[in-house]
Amino acid sequence: MPAQRSYDAVIVGGGHNGLVAAAYLARAGRSVLVLERLGTTGGAAVSTRPFTGVDARLSRYSYLVSLLPPKIVHELGLRFAVRKRSVSSYTPQGDGGLLVGGGPARTRASFAALTGSDREYQAWESFYGRTGRLARRVFPTLTEPLPTRAELRARVDDEDTWRMLFEQPLGVAVEETFADDLVRGVVLTDALIGTFAGAHDASLLQNRCFLYHVIGGGTGDWDVPVGGMGALTDALAGAARAAGAEIRTGHEVTRIESDGGHAALTFRTDDTEGVVEARHVLVNASPQALAALLGDPPPPPAEGAQLKVNMLLTRLPRLRDRSVDPREAFAGTVHIAEGYGRLATAYAEAAAGRLPSAPPSEIYCHSLTDPSILGPELARRGYQTLTLFGLHTPARLFAADNDATRVAALDATLAELDAHLDEPLADCLALDADGRPCVEARTPLDLERDLRLPGGHIFHGDLSFPYADEAGGRWGVETARSNVLVCGAGAVRGGGVSGVPGHNAAMAVLGS
Ligand SMILES: Cc1cc2nc3c(=O)[nH]c(=O)nc-3n(C[C@H](O)[C@H](O)[C@H](O)COP(=O)(O)OP(=O)(O)OC[C@H]3O[C@@H](n4cnc5c(N)ncnc54)[C@H](O)[C@@H]3O)c2cc1C
Repeated sequence: MPAQRSYDAVIVGGGHNGLVAAAYLARAGRSVLVLERLGTTGGAAVSTRPFTGVDARLSRYSYLVSLLPPKIVHELGLRFAVRKRSVSSYTPQGDGGLLVGGGPARTRASFAALTGSDREYQAWESFYGRTGRLARRVFPTLTEPLPTRAELRARVDDEDTWRMLFEQPLGVAVEETFADDLVRGVVLTDALIGTFAGAHDASLLQNRCFLYHVIGGGTGDWDVPVGGMGALTDALAGAARAAGAEIRTGHEVTRIESDGGHAALTFRTDDTEGVVEARHVLVNASPQALAALLGDPPPPPAEGAQLKVNMLLTRLPRLRDRSVDPREAFAGTVHIAEGYGRLATAYAEAAAGRLPSAPPSEIYCHSLTDPSILGPELARRGYQTLTLFGLHTPARLFAADNDATRVAALDATLAELDAHLDEPLADCLALDADGRPCVEARTPLDLERDLRLPGGHIFHGDLSFPYADEAGGRWGVETARSNVLVCGAGAVRGGGVSGVPGHNAAMAVLGS
């Protein structure tokens, strides 16, 4: 039970963003209570040992870090580090493939071997040169008051790039810039992470997703969290507690009443119920949950579209492409069935209500870059983790029979990977203490059940462009009640492991 009856700020949810907000507010001298319904903090940014009797601590849901500003790590004094991957991506095709990484000469040679000339490499360099410039201009704005659209456009100061990313469907730029189907597909995947959209959708959902995938850290790099995602959450919880915040797990908030100046929150634990009062309420839970807690009409429904798979291997599988060492390939993101045409087919099949016949996925091995997540015995024996993030498997496909469809989606996804391997992946899977293969798969419906992600949407809902819309709000975290703020992925500039909504909600409370 909470130690006090009343706090300056009560935070609903102890996901990483709730913890960031708690740490900032407590460091500013406010009394802070975090109420988290689960038994642990972290939400979708956690590490667990998912396999019985196996000492491997995997980032269970989110796994790579790009959007977390070093400013937050520094200001909160977090003992947390990320490590660069030696390879950005590898995409097999037939007995060859495209390797991006290992230095410019190697990347250029790989493009030339795949496409027969330097044209695609040059297009790639020019395209990502533009997004790099955009990243350096837009990323610092994420932790500043929300710019208007015109202000952000002026900040970007590059009309072609603005049009390409903020105005016309991304597919236009991809098709104008690149000629090769595989290269086009590799570019498009960043627009489809957890986002069910086609390259030419007028909604520009794909553009928003792409934007957040190329601006992180001012570089667009996706780095490995040392110690796994749980290391970040642990550091944040430690920082919040050290600053005086009180964190109660196993406490679910069931109701929020607010008159705009003062709020009362009802919560329940396994064996009791209680009420706590607050000057400010910061909601780390989803916009759907917020509406339900306030008794407001629900926002438009959200739908996730990914299959998340965690695996432990006794060794990395051999590739059919003998020109690349598996230790190089799997250190970066391995793109499977992600050619541009295949992505379009998978999207069309899923939109028509069927599992994609060749499900696209991205795979990477954490333990190659950071073996610290493995126990000493597993590390000595050369075990490796494998994380798979499948695209274009929307929640609706699992509605009729989640268990059977999970198995079917997993089998079809791993079959696509197997097509590029020189030995079946199954031969490389480690076994748990009960003799079962170390594989766990999570559908959008599983994530909705376990984490309360609405429709299993990994960003709590569709991403928004990082500028103010008509609703206004100085920080993109405001609600219709002046003392109730969003401090989770559902905020403007939310989504991803960034801490940005947590930071911005704290700044809003502190009147910055
Ligand atoms: C499978 C998967 C893979 C992903 N991969 C990446 C990745 O590699 N990199 C990346 O940057 N992002 C990734 N993401 C997205 C990222 O993890 C999320 O956007 C981010 O973690 C959201 O953080 P949050 O703190 O805003 O919300 P959450 O992590 O969702 O936390 C919200 C918290 O609120 C709690 N809560 C909800 N309702 C209540 C209530 N009524 N009372 C009390 N507590 C409540 C929940 O239990 C939860 O702990 C991934 C997400 C998923 C699911």
